[in-house]
Amino acid sequence: MQADNSSKDSEEPPAGGQNQALKRFYSAGRGFWGDVAEATWNDWRWQLKHRITTVEQLERFLPTLTPEELAGAKLANHKLALGITPYFFNLIDPADENCPIRRQMIPRIEETTTAAWEMSDPCGEDSHSPVPGLVHRYPDRVLFLVTDRCASYCRYCTRSRLVSNASGYDFHPEFDKQIAYIAAHPEIRDVLLSGGDPLLLSDEKLENLLSRLRAIPHVEFLRIGTRIPVFLPQRITPELCAMLKQFHPLFISIHANHPRELTTEVRDALGRLADAGIPLGNQSVLLRHVNDDAEVMKAHLQKLLRCRVKPYYLYQCDLIAGSAHLRASVSRGLEIMEQLRGHTTGYAVPTYVIDAPGGGGKVPINPEYVLCRNAGRVLIRNYEGKIFEYPESADGQPCGQPPKEIAEPELV
Ligand code: SF4
Repeated sequence: MQADNSSKDSEEPPAGGQNQALKRFYSAGRGFWGDVAEATWNDWRWQLKHRITTVEQLERFLPTLTPEELAGAKLANHKLALGITPYFFNLIDPADENCPIRRQMIPRIEETTTAAWEMSDPCGEDSHSPVPGLVHRYPDRVLFLVTDRCASYCRYCTRSRLVSNASGYDFHPEFDKQIAYIAAHPEIRDVLLSGGDPLLLSDEKLENLLSRLRAIPHVEFLRIGTRIPVFLPQRITPELCAMLKQFHPLFISIHANHPRELTTEVRDALGRLADAGIPLGNQSVLLRHVNDDAEVMKAHLQKLLRCRVKPYYLYQCDLIAGSAHLRASVSRGLEIMEQLRGHTTGYAVPTYVIDAPGGGGKVPINPEYVLCRNAGRVLIRNYEGKIFEYPESADGQPCGQPPKEIAEPELV
């Protein structure tokens, strides 16, 4: 990666400390593609066309492949395709086999091991699908799957059963049927476009789809879930932003897991979306040896705020088949959350959730801050471990005793 030499360098935090180093913005650079013309490099279609998709390319561009990676790469295209944009590939550190980008992108032989509790559809989406490509799991909102393609493929993907079509899922969304279902269900006020990645559609196709959804009177709110700003910031063109801003209220949830993913290119792409008035949130997945470290996570979340993105969810990694080597424990996630709440800006703290296995939906999980609760009082602990009492009372009635800090909890 190349350090950012733009005028924005003056906005960089002062040097010193792991947190500050992780929060610096760098360009991904050009790496093996140094002789490609600037305009070509910045053409998102060129980036897609020149993705690393074969073992032979991988061996050429990453000669430090481990035996586990090589064996995994040879089998990958039977399960979830290998695909990495040249831009994103440049973020891989060839000297570090535990590089956080490498762990997310390069297949490993461990993917072929499936534990008894792992599933191909861990969130039970297929059983909540009234028409192909639509998931209606919560009462007032639907997930609208637009495509099975992504700019690059994450080895822990929850939808790896269908994404990239490597395992023969034969995904065929039917926009007419999906839209007809939404139009016939007035309780649906919120539509989340996802996939695969909706921003891989051409501007024209996406505009047509958004227009049809906006024409449904009871659809109040549109959302797009995308990893494109991170994998392919070149796709966030001024034309795309101008088109999207016609459809407010429109929110975008990006997906970034490690501060290294937030380059100068990504920061600028996100700035273009924010300037188009699009509220931005981020979803991270807690991943072993990627971001399961409180300092790394804190730097990531703070850096997202600097990119004008609100950290939204931190997901416990779903029980996707062959992902055990990438899953961090729930205990680890709770330890990290404990070191965030109160220790940094509240806007930087995401909601940590487990998507209940089999289709129960998102369940927020938190360190225990409520120590005891009864009809008379609530005992709470703050981020420093200090314990406080808050009087409980019937709604609207005066409290009995003033709240106070207490030295020891009296659990009753
Ligand atoms: S971008 Fe999203 S849908 Fe695509 S492979 Fe990654 S996690 Fe899966």
